[in-house]
Amino acid sequence: MQQTAHITSQQPVGRSLWDDAFERLRNNRAAMAAAAIMGAIVLLVLAAPLLSPYSIDSTDWDRISVPPSFSTGHWFGTDDVGRDLFVRTLYGGRISLLVGLAATLVSLVIGIAWGATAGYAGGKAINNLGEAIRGHREDYIIGLKITWGPDDDRAMDAALNSLGIEQADICFFNIHKAADVRQDRYRKGAERWKAAGKFRYIGLTSHSDTLACMQAGLKEGFYDVLMPAYSLGMEDAFEDVFQQAQDRGTGVVLMKTGRGLGHDAYADAIPTYLNMPGVTTINKGMNSFDAVTRMLESARRRTSDEASTRLRSAARVAMSGHCIMCGACTNACPHSMPVADVVRCSDYYMEQPEYLAFAGEVYTSLPRRPADSLCGSCSSCETACPNGVPIRHHIRRADAMLA
Ligand code: SF4
Ligand code: SF4
Repeated sequence: MQQTAHITSQQPVGRSLWDDAFERLRNNRAAMAAAAIMGAIVLLVLAAPLLSPYSIDSTDWDRISVPPSFSTGHWFGTDDVGRDLFVRTLYGGRISLLVGLAATLVSLVIGIAWGATAGYAGGKAINNLGEAIRGHREDYIIGLKITWGPDDDRAMDAALNSLGIEQADICFFNIHKAADVRQDRYRKGAERWKAAGKFRYIGLTSHSDTLACMQAGLKEGFYDVLMPAYSLGMEDAFEDVFQQAQDRGTGVVLMKTGRGLGHDAYADAIPTYLNMPGVTTINKGMNSFDAVTRMLESARRRTSDEASTRLRSAARVAMSGHCIMCGACTNACPHSMPVADVVRCSDYYMEQPEYLAFAGEVYTSLPRRPADSLCGSCSSCETACPNGVPIRHHIRRADAMLA
């Protein structure tokens, strides 16, 4: 694999989680605008008694049921017993804010307990993995898929600590938009972590807008490894990417390669994947020693060109109507529905019983809305999809089963 030429001797600079959170907030213009509006509303309701000469329950006998008017001092008018509606609206706002605050506090308490428990359980799994590799570190190539930001040195240290290692081999940035791949902070994070000896290589992984992300990653030039979600049937789209990666010495690891293939067909497909020009290896989840043995046996098997061609044709037919994670629907929804993510929950995770709970977790974390109130007669995402995926069916199914 290609060594990056951008290593510097700069020392890592620590940043607190609060700094990160504030920076993210500052960069989110919609959140900042909402915060300003919210602040103004809070000030208004707190200053309610100062803003009107009337109290919440005093009656202005001369002005019963009058319309809004500046001259009478009743800016919102009065109700049928002469009470000022402006001041009552402000006091009503106080009650609404208190209800919202109480609900947020309750969800915060439950959320923190839940998150801490999940973190503890998740931590246990990674600790067990660390336990398993102790004393055999050099036998493994360890890649960490980073879902936090490239500025988060603490999270990266925590991940390495959980595994009981000082250095991992590959740090995969998990990015799903080509524009994000080009952000300078990934390059800077990569340089800093490499210089600090935390990782040997920097990788890019994506399962949405995948082709564009991989193309952008190659262009950026500092990614040593690409790990796209990939299925047989996507060869034409990815041919150039694999070729360029091979020419530059960039590693290519394929993931999610079992899509649309049963267990037996997948075992046959492994040699086909491994023989593809430009492909270094594949990444496959295995949940038993038996599965590991079967996969390794398949990887050692040879396959003929005719068998590969037959398999590719069969895979294309099998994959027709299934999501191949190409990302063509990424910006298709006028309501910004994360279409590919919802389809992935329904079409990929739900097909695998061991991922069912995970599908629910991913789905409930998405910013989505029920299909029935969203889609109406729209079918933009299905029009954009090159593989005939019945997207609206998946959206409804995910809604019914995972929400
Ligand atoms: S059908 Fe629904 S999810 Fe698809 S683009 Fe239209 S509104 Fe968005
Ligand atoms: S739903 Fe269709 S367009 Fe969207 S990622 Fe999947 S295959 Fe591509």
